[in-house]
Amino acid sequence: MAACQTVQQWITQNVLVPVTEFITEAQEKCDEIGNWVEENVEQPFEQQVSEAEEWCSDWPWPLDWICDIVVVIVTVIVWEIVTVVKWVVTIVCQIVTVVVGTVVTWVLQVVGWFVSFVVCVFTDPVAAILSIRDLWTAYLDVIGRAFGLVDTLLADVGGILGDLENIVDTVASGLGWLGTLLGFIKGVIHLVRDVIDAARDVIHAVGDLYIGILSGNLCRIIRGGADLITGSLRLGFDTGFGFLPWAGARAVGSSIGGFRDEIEQYRLERLIRRSLANAFDKDEDRVKRAIKKIGINVRPMGLPFHIDARRMFLNSENATFNPKTLHDAGVINLYRMAGYWSDCDKIYNEPDTEVVYTGTNLHVTYADLGTYLANGPGSTTPFRVYAITRMKFRTHLDTAQRKMQVLGVRLFYEIGEIEATLPEHVPFNAGTFAVQQALFAAAFGRDASGRGLDTIPVVSLFSYIGLQDFGLTTPFNPSKKERNISGVTYRNLTPDWGLRFVLAHELGHYVSLDHKNRAGGVRALDEIMYVGSSHHYLAASTPFEYLLLEGEPRFTFDDARTVWEWITSDVVRDILLP
Ligand SMILES: [Zn+2]
Repeated sequence: MAACQTVQQWITQNVLVPVTEFITEAQEKCDEIGNWVEENVEQPFEQQVSEAEEWCSDWPWPLDWICDIVVVIVTVIVWEIVTVVKWVVTIVCQIVTVVVGTVVTWVLQVVGWFVSFVVCVFTDPVAAILSIRDLWTAYLDVIGRAFGLVDTLLADVGGILGDLENIVDTVASGLGWLGTLLGFIKGVIHLVRDVIDAARDVIHAVGDLYIGILSGNLCRIIRGGADLITGSLRLGFDTGFGFLPWAGARAVGSSIGGFRDEIEQYRLERLIRRSLANAFDKDEDRVKRAIKKIGINVRPMGLPFHIDARRMFLNSENATFNPKTLHDAGVINLYRMAGYWSDCDKIYNEPDTEVVYTGTNLHVTYADLGTYLANGPGSTTPFRVYAITRMKFRTHLDTAQRKMQVLGVRLFYEIGEIEATLPEHVPFNAGTFAVQQALFAAAFGRDASGRGLDTIPVVSLFSYIGLQDFGLTTPFNPSKKERNISGVTYRNLTPDWGLRFVLAHELGHYVSLDHKNRAGGVRALDEIMYVGSSHHYLAASTPFEYLLLEGEPRFTFDDARTVWEWITSDVVRDILLP
């Protein structure tokens, strides 16, 4: 290898990668603080609160009521402390790691570029000129990180408002029927959160457009354009396009939506209690333990499920199945996936990929991609091609988590990764359930016994064979004679809004929901379990749902009935054990 390239690679491998590895790990830790606190601090606390309220309700009037009020006050105080600490730590951690990380990475990239440029000028002038491209990439990375930070912070604001909605709910549930009136406040918070979420989409889309244009990546330009249109429309609808009576109607509609949610939570609580009583009629103790596990008096209440979420990736160093073999075979276009100058083949159907050095979030240089495609594994610093960006995956998981609350299902997650090692993984063969089940068995240690159903394997993958499939769930549902090695795969598409509900839809299948509703009818677009092939787009409720009430699709109360039948059915109900 020429001295010029040797120097470039040495700097990447021995300076840039180790430093950014450390920074990346720190950033991921910051993002995970919130999830960790939720699962390990908030949830156990909420279960205690729920138990205390159960205990209160055994007292005679008015002592039960006073007892409830005391519990609610204590809960609000503790909630405030935990939430404030959680978000302050998270946000400070994120800002510091991103800002420091961006500056350090940028300085190292520029210094490293300069050193190798000087060496190259004397040994390989052409390579020296071409390396200017990498300097440009480094600049675009800085822009990308700045947009990423804004994205992260707006997601945090959304998270804070979500926590606020939950505490309003908790207080409401402590007040019984009277509490449903607080639903109006919740509805307004919900609307504000939707506006912020739409604004976040718009800013993210502008970032995609800007960087897409400056790097000549058509897929990113299309993605940015499509997301900009959906984001702007959402912002418009949420604010009445600046037309005051419409904005007022939207605000009233949203508060009515909040009121409806509150009533449904109240009904859900009764549904869960009834389901448990039916399932364990002789065993009061077990009902009590289940109620505690669900945290029935606190919001969000729900049976906890843990998502083992993995991003699928291609490993540059895999000897037989790697980005080069796939690029050479025309299955993928590595330049397109890495965000460089490229056309866009499948328009809305290209995943939002990232190509980074292993263990880091540092984009692989154009020069390294060329070297790799010419010489294969071992010729560059190892890198990975991910099927989805970490941030987008988080957004989808957060969305599913939020939407599934109305089912009495509480999701927690952590994001890991899974290597695609076989030709049937990219594009994924969904023709039979065989490939998916083999993947879950090998990588997650799952079997078809139905044990451990409260851990859900979720894989975000590149694409499926054919264009039809957005996601695939292998269900475990004995009452329908479906005893698969269960779990979920799905992929991301453009535009993200609308299609970000695909993961929630698949998780809906996992907890036994169908495309048909309980009456056997097809569903319209305002329901998450809607399916495009039904060609039944509108129901009477659809425009109300989008324009006035929630502004997005939802699971229905009937869906909750179905889910709780599944949870309390003979085979599945083991997951209710504490
Ligand atoms: Zn489906």
